[in-house]
Amino acid sequence: MTHTIPGPIDPPARLLMGPGPISAYPSVLRAMSAPLVGQYDPFMTAAMTETQELYRAVWATQSDATLLIDGTSRAGIEAAMLSLIRPGDRVLVPVFGRFGHLLAEIAERAMAEVHTIETAWGQVFAPSAIEEAIIRVRPTLLALVQGDTSTTMNQPLDEIGAICERHGVLFYTDATASLGGNPFEADAWGVDAATAGLQKCLGGPSGSAPITLSPRAVELIQNRKKVEAGIREAGDPSSPDFVRSNYFDLGMILDYWGPRRLNHHTEATTMLYGARECARVLLLEGRDEVIARHELAGRAMLEGVRALGLTVFGDVAHKMHNVVAVEIPEGVPGDVARGALLEDFGIEIGTSFGPLHGKVWRIGTMGYNARKDAVLTTLAALEQVLRRFGAPVPAGGGVEAAVDVYAGAAAGAR
Ligand SMILES: *Cc1c(COP(=O)(O)O)cnc(C)c1O
Repeated sequence: MTHTIPGPIDPPARLLMGPGPISAYPSVLRAMSAPLVGQYDPFMTAAMTETQELYRAVWATQSDATLLIDGTSRAGIEAAMLSLIRPGDRVLVPVFGRFGHLLAEIAERAMAEVHTIETAWGQVFAPSAIEEAIIRVRPTLLALVQGDTSTTMNQPLDEIGAICERHGVLFYTDATASLGGNPFEADAWGVDAATAGLQKCLGGPSGSAPITLSPRAVELIQNRKKVEAGIREAGDPSSPDFVRSNYFDLGMILDYWGPRRLNHHTEATTMLYGARECARVLLLEGRDEVIARHELAGRAMLEGVRALGLTVFGDVAHKMHNVVAVEIPEGVPGDVARGALLEDFGIEIGTSFGPLHGKVWRIGTMGYNARKDAVLTTLAALEQVLRRFGAPVPAGGGVEAAVDVYAGAAAGAR
């Protein structure tokens, strides 16, 4: 028998300017090539503790219950939902894009009674609309996406925690797409649970899901565990307090990350190194500075695509800093043009889902790629490709408009 053994992994040079994943910070890739240590090596447990401390600053929380779930962003979502929802609990999910549907689906798998409200893609909810639905539905949990990459919208969250508090509702948010590139204040906004991933504004690969839980959420999880343990030592599967996942049982995961360090899974060492470095580079540059860099790159890209004659999708006033959706011009074959960008320029931009499929491209400026040269290179390449496929584009328009945004910002800073 003969086997053809492929060569060592050797990816092509790519500039990832889609809605995620994005090109990682070089130092994150370096951190991820560091040697492994044992699960309970003092170096490893210290690195876990440091990582918790770093992410408390990233989330803007004092909560000890700030850690990583091993897996992609949806591992964080599943851990939060399976641990906070008991079968039969009412859960309210305001849906303004694809990821709202995902939260509703996962809540259903957690056997919740799921209620949704919807708004048109490209819009966000007024806090009053969410409060009205809470009064009507009386949920135990509100599950709300912050930044939905499918539509690029950034749902304002600053008033939601107070609304939830007033009505005795737990507040969970998926901040995967937004964290790091847009404001997030876990404690000040009264967030009870929030989850993310590394592959958007945090500038790492997918595969680790930062999570933070408020004392109220931790209490619910611990009570659930106590009630459960009281029923039967090994857990009674017929009890509503029984968490129907071992891997995502936050009660157990908190014991592993907490002072007792009770064995649960084996923490994914290399992902921990990567997640730690993502937070470290963010905090070294400064949380506000990184948000400002995303705002500037996002504004330069926005003005750039407008100057190319492209129509921007959705309510721009509520757009995330780090991604823009543009309508594909009449007559331009969207996927073929995207393919040309990738093949000829090594630049990846995103397609779209659901009602927007085939109608818009999504262009991201996130993490390491929220950079002037990445913005200008992408606009120059996009201009050439648009022209190649017959779209009328003013020469130099896109790049010049973006250069002007950067020049204006530099003049403003002087
Ligand atoms: C990108 C994104 C995810 C991604 O989930 P993965 O499991 O990492 O693929 C989840 N939620 C939101 C809001 C996102 O934008």
